[in-house]
Amino acid sequence: MNNNDNNKKNLPPARSFIVFLIISIVATVILNLVITSISAPKAQEILYSDFMQMVEDDQVEEVIITADKIQIYKKPSEEQSTTDKLMQLWGVGNSEQRELYYTGYLNDPRLFDLLDQHGVKYSTPIQYSNPFLEFLLTWILPLVFIYGMFFLLSKSLSKKMGGGVMGIGQSKAKMYMQNKTGITFRDVAGQEEAKESLNEIVDFLHNPSKYTAIGAKQPKGALLVGPPGTGKTLLAKAVAGEANVPFFSLSGSEFVEMFVGVGASRVRDLFKQASQNAPCIIFIDEIDAIGKSRDNQIGSNDEREQTLNQLLAEMDGFDSSKGVVILAATNRPEILDKALLRPGRFDRRIIVEKPDLKGREAILRVHAKNVKTAPNVDLHDMALATSGAVGADLANMVNEAALRAVRLGRNVVTQEDLMEAVEVIIAGKEKKDRILSEQEKHIVAYHEVGHALATAVSKNCDPVQKITIVPRTMGALGYTMQKPEEEKYLMNKDEMLDEIVVFLAGRAAEEIVFGIKTTGAANDIERATEMARNMITLYGMSDKFGMMALESIQNRYLDGRRVSNCSAETQTLIDAEVSKTLQSCYDRAVAILKDNREALDKISEFLIDKETITGKQFMDIFNDVKASLESGETAESETEETQPPEDNSSEQ
Ligand code: ADP
Ligand code: MG
Ligand code: ZN
Repeated sequence: MNNNDNNKKNLPPARSFIVFLIISIVATVILNLVITSISAPKAQEILYSDFMQMVEDDQVEEVIITADKIQIYKKPSEEQSTTDKLMQLWGVGNSEQRELYYTGYLNDPRLFDLLDQHGVKYSTPIQYSNPFLEFLLTWILPLVFIYGMFFLLSKSLSKKMGGGVMGIGQSKAKMYMQNKTGITFRDVAGQEEAKESLNEIVDFLHNPSKYTAIGAKQPKGALLVGPPGTGKTLLAKAVAGEANVPFFSLSGSEFVEMFVGVGASRVRDLFKQASQNAPCIIFIDEIDAIGKSRDNQIGSNDEREQTLNQLLAEMDGFDSSKGVVILAATNRPEILDKALLRPGRFDRRIIVEKPDLKGREAILRVHAKNVKTAPNVDLHDMALATSGAVGADLANMVNEAALRAVRLGRNVVTQEDLMEAVEVIIAGKEKKDRILSEQEKHIVAYHEVGHALATAVSKNCDPVQKITIVPRTMGALGYTMQKPEEEKYLMNKDEMLDEIVVFLAGRAAEEIVFGIKTTGAANDIERATEMARNMITLYGMSDKFGMMALESIQNRYLDGRRVSNCSAETQTLIDAEVSKTLQSCYDRAVAILKDNREALDKISEFLIDKETITGKQFMDIFNDVKASLESGETAESETEETQPPEDNSSEQ
């Protein structure tokens, strides 16, 4: 569905063809002039009367008469220089030793008599050549050659610069008509609010009079904002498909060229084209490429600023009642220039968030329609397992599942294919060739079961879905998959602490059982630390600092980089607080595993044997061990409670 490809195959437009024709003709004329001036012997023009005088003085050896001039060869002079004589003797040097003159041809009746009298040889050259052939050789061939050269040159240049000599300054906007994108709102799932906002624009384009009648002004532009892969580009295409109006689409980076001023002229051209085709939609994808705030001094870019200024001017200049609507998409709204966002420009913001459970299921349904699925396929189940995934991820997963089905020689996609695809996207492909030593296998198994047990004991955690110690390409030697029973939108402090305990339980298992620390816990530690820090600096969950925003998040839709809002001293205190939280969570993880040591051993052995176990197998063993312990305990003493401490909320 890449519409950009059509654009590259453009032949040079008619205007540049004429320019090149003129250049080629001029070049050919110059070429011909140069060739004749080089090939012609050096000659000196003289008067006709002087020529007659020369003949009478017997100085002329030969004349060649053509239609318009007479070439005169003078007899070799007596006083030749010695070198000339030597050169003549050896047969080297200029064969035209005779001096050459020319004069215009006069229809003079005396001429031939006089020549005869003085014994001057005369002749006229015969035109052997076919005039058509000559014309072809001297004019058409060079013309074709030069034009061809220019064409090839501009093509290779256009590859390098993405624009091309002939295309410089011309907008590369191309028209998308409905039959071209073929995408409608039905292809975009789980973005109901966004679709609703955009529907209004579609409706306006269909019947503008409805709005103008009560004096409502349509917003000039709408900005689609959200993380990558959530379907912003897709939504814009769907608007075009729904509205059935011309659709001019350009990516922000296409405005930024090698040459200053090119971007600005592209913008001008784009809006000119658009206003000629109104009602229509202009879509600028990845607008942050040009819309970056102009106020930062470092890395300021003249070309980009000019382009942005032009865009602002054009947006002010056109009349939205004509029916030109501008859509733009970005995942970095915070860096956009404020001028772009003020009323009258991109005044409407359409948030395209990561899909929730229902949204993910709907997106999966859209994409599963394109593949053959087995009747057992449960997309709700898959949606539960893919919390945090965006539309692009889900589309990718369905495709991976289909590929796996083909690889296994099946002609339908099963639930197993889908769930394996989820894992491939999350953790990478299984790495069957990586052989773990027995010792390593044991450590990995205990580590994973440690996570799983902490999950099972804590009432706030999602149930275990699968535990595996088959290594994956993305670095995990084993992992524990949890699957939520429902989507959560809020997390409370206890849940967050429980999660940290689960992260740290892997390391705790290594320590308790083998008395060692391994590198396998690196990712767990990183995530636990981040969560602890978030609790303190972002969510106001620490007693020490209370509700103070100590950090803020930049680039919310991309990497979520944080900036500190506090002094260095406070940061030191924060670090101490983070460390304290982590330590207390780790202590709790150790306590949980010590309390469940028997289950830990049993399940780990089972896992080492099977390599992959399901959440159900895990829970069965866990419950068995618990039950047998309880019956044994009750026989011994009724007072002692061996059940793991369920009371997590006591944690500070
Ligand atoms: P963005 O522009 O937000 O980065 P795209 O619109 O390019 O994301 O989405 C990439 C692909 O992901 C789409 O072509 C589509 O296949 C899939 N996709 C993303 N979001 C959705 C959605 N809401 N519904 C259906 N498919 C989606
Ligand atoms: Mg996009
Ligand atoms: Zn781990």
